[in-house]
Amino acid sequence: MSTKTYVSDLLNRLPESATLAMARMSRELKEDGNDVISLSLGEPDFNAPDFVKEACKKAVDDDYSHYPPVNGYGELREAICCKFLRDNDLVYTPDQIVVSTGAKQTISNVVYALVNPGDEVLLPAPFWVSYAAMVQLAGGVPVIIPTQIENDFKITAEELRSNISDKTKLMIYSSPCNPSGSVYSKDELTALAEVIKSKPDFFVVSDEIYEHINYTGEHASLGTIPGIFDQVITVNGVSKAFAMTGYRIGYLGAPTWIAKACSKMQGQVTSAPSGVSQMAAKAAVLAEPSSVFYMKNAFLKRRDMMLEKLGEIPGLKLNVPEGAFYIFPNCMELLGTLTDDGQEINTSSDLCMYLLKEENVALVAGDAFGAAECFRLSYAASDEMLVDAAARMKRAFGKLKKQN
Ligand code: PMP
Ligand code: GLU
Repeated sequence: MSTKTYVSDLLNRLPESATLAMARMSRELKEDGNDVISLSLGEPDFNAPDFVKEACKKAVDDDYSHYPPVNGYGELREAICCKFLRDNDLVYTPDQIVVSTGAKQTISNVVYALVNPGDEVLLPAPFWVSYAAMVQLAGGVPVIIPTQIENDFKITAEELRSNISDKTKLMIYSSPCNPSGSVYSKDELTALAEVIKSKPDFFVVSDEIYEHINYTGEHASLGTIPGIFDQVITVNGVSKAFAMTGYRIGYLGAPTWIAKACSKMQGQVTSAPSGVSQMAAKAAVLAEPSSVFYMKNAFLKRRDMMLEKLGEIPGLKLNVPEGAFYIFPNCMELLGTLTDDGQEINTSSDLCMYLLKEENVALVAGDAFGAAECFRLSYAASDEMLVDAAARMKRAFGKLKKQN
């Protein structure tokens, strides 16, 4: 049989999602009988809360089995408006809300709604893997703004200003950040807002999906900074805070014309997300955030434990992530080394592949996030797995020898 394929050039140019690729690889190794610890996928290791499950079951019984309106059921969009007001001081009306199949689709809709071929999209690095791929699919040009671990991987207003050109259309960032765990304070966002304000045809996706996994006690929404509400698209979802990754519900609040454009896009590609998932998401967004703080508290304990364990591994530089469930160590000192059998470790991808083969621990290399000198570790896993993974990392990294 012929092995020739006819995949489009566009798809051939598109990289596989690095997070999903690493998750797939570790699943395959596990299926082959290997004792794999996967810290690669950004997914809570909790199940959805009981009240969410009940709402979903009720939706089945109540026959939420028909096509919902493309932008989501009105009752869910109203609930989302209440959530934005309660948690974020953001005043949106239901026609400014679009519900999608995960925040991934939400962001993809925005990119297609706003970006013309050749438009520049600013991505402070490290950024979540799919941002760059989405921009490329739409024909946009990702402009990567590098950051340093010493500055907690955050950009300054000056760095933002110096990367804006006539072609700049959009910026996409997350706070708390995947993959760095960094959190922008209100003051930091206010400084960025001054720059954003200076270019009224420049828009910003504020991806707040890790809002409720924030250890600082204060979440700031960019859209609340005076003067830029009409330039901000606030993205959120239920995957992370409510451990509902498989329900596939994300949403945005945006100026009505952007919401309409996103809805038009969605109407041609997927239509509305699953009706029963929407009703489960309604229960989640209406619940008091404190009802899921037990997960945040567990993540915080694990963060502290992992920072201690990773701190004992020579060659890793760490900062203290203030949110999400990731640690993003700088591993520069471990590059330019040789393994026992003479294999060169020159990139964080080499390092991650070596760790996977040597000790069956799956991480994600930093290059996919626009920071090749780092890697991402998700600590949304059990204490036992985390302790074991840290010991394996220490053993594997300890064997690397500097090249002469
Ligand atoms: N934004 C960020 C920063 C994420 O980490 C993720 C997924 N991990 C998403 C968006 C998409 O989430 P979902 O599609 O599950 O809602
Ligand atoms: N977003 C999560 C992550 O960063 C899940 C995987 C994905 O959707 O890319 O790992």
